[in-house]
Amino acid sequence: MPRLNEHYLNLKESYLFSEIAHRTAAYAEQNPQKGAQIIRLGIGDVTKPLGKVVLKALHEGVDAMSTAETFKGYGPEQGYEATRNAIAAYYKKNGVEVDPGDIFVSDGAKSDTGNITDLFGPGNVILIPDPVYPVYVDTNIMCGNEVTYLEGNAGNQFLPMPDPGVHADVIYLCSPNNPTGACYNKAQLKEWVDYALSNDAVILFDSAYEAFVSDPELPRSIFAIEGAKRCAIEFCSLSKTAGFTGTRCGYTVVPKELKFRASDGTEMSLNAMWNRRQCTKFNGTSYIVQKGAEVVFSEEGIRECQENIQYYKKNAKVIADTLSRLQIPFFGGINSPYIWFECPDGMDSWTCFDYLLTNIQVVGTPGAGFGENGKNYFRLTAFNTYEKTVEAMERFEKLFASL
Ligand SMILES: *Cc1c(COP(=O)(O)O)cnc(C)c1O
Repeated sequence: MPRLNEHYLNLKESYLFSEIAHRTAAYAEQNPQKGAQIIRLGIGDVTKPLGKVVLKALHEGVDAMSTAETFKGYGPEQGYEATRNAIAAYYKKNGVEVDPGDIFVSDGAKSDTGNITDLFGPGNVILIPDPVYPVYVDTNIMCGNEVTYLEGNAGNQFLPMPDPGVHADVIYLCSPNNPTGACYNKAQLKEWVDYALSNDAVILFDSAYEAFVSDPELPRSIFAIEGAKRCAIEFCSLSKTAGFTGTRCGYTVVPKELKFRASDGTEMSLNAMWNRRQCTKFNGTSYIVQKGAEVVFSEEGIRECQENIQYYKKNAKVIADTLSRLQIPFFGGINSPYIWFECPDGMDSWTCFDYLLTNIQVVGTPGAGFGENGKNYFRLTAFNTYEKTVEAMERFEKLFASL
């Protein structure tokens, strides 16, 4: 009998999306007329189709596979040079210098943020925000690691800051944040970088929503902060940027400056380790997908992606404006597709879910699904259509104005 990785026994069952689906379906079955009116503002996936330039490049990628002269077999595990150069140029456009040799193209940020635990040994002090994207906690539990939570709350605008009195080795940050939509400014990230440098720690920075940042004062990359190349790895994704949730492509930047000492004093490079890890366990992102990804970063590609992002952000503004008028405290909604509001009347997040479903047939996501600190909060997303978003928020405003 194989001995199993019993750390899996320590994973909490994730009931979130199945429970939402279950409650919604049960309501619709018992109330067919009202059930037909349900509007989903809990969608955690993009809804707009791929842009024209991306589609054209994907087709060209497929066509290349059709002749022996242009056929592509195994590609470089790190990604094709053209894709990596396009990503480096995109960074440069946003004011950040990144060496294409530090960029690793992958099938998405979920894989990379999950697989990165391969580089770290046992016994680290690992800081993970609460609430946050559940992948970081679960992948650490799978390794048997202990996690220390960084408390996000209204008091710190859901942007936890380092405690200089507490040592850490590995720090996960996600900005703009899923689920709260909160975004660190440069001074705050500088504080994190300084803290990491003084602790000899590494920051694992998830920048999956960087393309939603429109405020030029807000950093879209941790590498906009001086010193970050000596203490940070950055994860990016084309999922929310370019609608690649089903097409699959992401990239991770592991700077060559990132070096730490082994217990015997040997210097180890995280770039070299990640390269080794990827070459051993990953055989590269599909050529066809990388053809599509490359043009996402072209002038035309950026313009097309921004059109969709602006559409989602207009929806986010409808939601944010409604909450503002109702004086319901909320976070996000500006540089993010997510709006995180405090459940009115002291409701907990599942009570709020039922209240919205049964009274106005609007479905969102209870904050409890993202951590202990989410239990009195609720996430709405901007990925439905403008028309549905407006209608949902009209119902929402009527309901809470009469409360
Ligand atoms: C959506 C999302 C990702 C992207 O994952 P992919 O695997 O690239 O689709 C990464 N991090 C966060 C916080 C996300 O919300």
